[in-house]
Amino acid sequence: MKLFQNYIDGRFVPGKRGFADINPADGSTIAHVAEADAAQVDEAVHAARQALHGEWGRLGIRERAARLHSLADAIEKRFDCFVHAEVADTGKPVWLASRLDVPRAAVNFRVFADLIKIAGLESFQTETPDGVQALNYAVRKPLGVIGVITPWNLPLLLLTWKVAPALASGNTVVVKPSEETPATATILAEAMEEAGIPRGVYNVVHGFGPGSAGEFLTQHPDVNAITFTGESKTGAAIMKAAAPTVKPVSFELGGKNAALVFADCNLDDAVKGLSDAVFLNTGQVCLCAERVYVERKIFSQFIEALKGRAESLNPGWPNDEKTNLGPLISAQHRVKVLSYYKLAKEEGATVVTGGGVPQFGDKRDHGFYIQPTIYTGLRESARCVKEEIFGPVCHIAPFDSEEEAVAMANDTNYGLAASIWTTDLKRGHRVAQQMTVGITWVNCWFLRDLRTPFGGVGLSGIGREGGIHSLNFYSELNNICIRL
Ligand code: NAD
Repeated sequence: MKLFQNYIDGRFVPGKRGFADINPADGSTIAHVAEADAAQVDEAVHAARQALHGEWGRLGIRERAARLHSLADAIEKRFDCFVHAEVADTGKPVWLASRLDVPRAAVNFRVFADLIKIAGLESFQTETPDGVQALNYAVRKPLGVIGVITPWNLPLLLLTWKVAPALASGNTVVVKPSEETPATATILAEAMEEAGIPRGVYNVVHGFGPGSAGEFLTQHPDVNAITFTGESKTGAAIMKAAAPTVKPVSFELGGKNAALVFADCNLDDAVKGLSDAVFLNTGQVCLCAERVYVERKIFSQFIEALKGRAESLNPGWPNDEKTNLGPLISAQHRVKVLSYYKLAKEEGATVVTGGGVPQFGDKRDHGFYIQPTIYTGLRESARCVKEEIFGPVCHIAPFDSEEEAVAMANDTNYGLAASIWTTDLKRGHRVAQQMTVGITWVNCWFLRDLRTPFGGVGLSGIGREGGIHSLNFYSELNNICIRL
């Protein structure tokens, strides 16, 4: 049986306690994981602090960037190993891990390695009313030791999305991957060693949130900032834990994202795009659309087409190239999603398709598969329309006017992403600018340029990462004013 250990100061170390890593496709145990206790989290933070003042801290930007490119090379060299580990941990289809998760990990390091070399800062020629001249310019310094806490849905992609800009900015990190998906963060340590990233720069502590490694990290007085992706409620708990030491936080949290489908859309594109937006990764992407609003003229036609797509999904074994719908991440998460399937009916929903658990007659029946599901007929105030479910499910409601569509889309405490489907260019711009979210797509979904700002409004997060926004979060700026 495999063992995933903590990685502290360049060494793999066991834990006093441990837990099982479960394969969501059949419920089997695939590895044991060493849980870090408070003393080990402390050691990891100490190692990260020391590393700031060692070889890493003395490297110039060009050399730092070169090592991050070597790290991307080392990830690509281990491509199959990362894909295998990610598929085993998450149950996601192998084509998705090979086309999205693992390639993006390497790209994350390359993008921020290149960006840090050209990231300039403003300077100001200053003149006071009494005629004194001065020059103001800012210098960028690392923030220090960054606590990185990540979820299970896109484990390596989201971890490297934070580790890459943190390291590019000269920081050191202690990462706490999700207890559900410990593998790829651990394997990344081997790639770090090969790329010549000095010991102590990248540390991994495994465990849970409250009373475990997650909480020990957020409360640690010597951690300078926390970057977190996960549920909004967890974000609130982390904010509280980080408050006594006034740590800066960057939060990428949950969503209840809307899609607006206008009658003038290209229907094939909209149905295909929204089939991805609702069902990709079994609906376990923060950007997934769980609320779909369709102009009444094409309401029935759209529902039939999306239903056809849902029913043609293939919930196979994750390693089968033809599989395009994996299981949910865990038994516990399936209980949560099924509770919403039950609630939807209690709230008066009409089930267009799905609503239950598929039967296979093989070991997948011990896994956490669930049917892709479409509902209609709920009131906008229904809990299933208001709360994030995080499964392969959406509710479709009709609208009669652009104003009504915009009002329904914005009637949420979340504000991560929206997508708009129309061939009217002016409408696309007009509606996009009215969305109270961090990211709006027009006639596409999940199309990402890593230089653009990424983040959410309201319960969906605090701050923006991506491009220069990441570098600004992971840097301390020192403004220097020189009297001339
Ligand atoms: P989660 O909040 O349960 O856990 C995320 C991480 O936080 C895990 O590593 C967990 O161990 C840790 N954690 C939990 N409680 C903690 C605490 N009190 N202190 C410190 N650490 C703690 O989230 P999840 O279930 O792993 O992920 C799903 C959620 O993530 C969904 O809500 C989804 O929308 C969100 N998400 C958001 C984005 C985004 O970019 N906005 C991306 C992916 C996922």
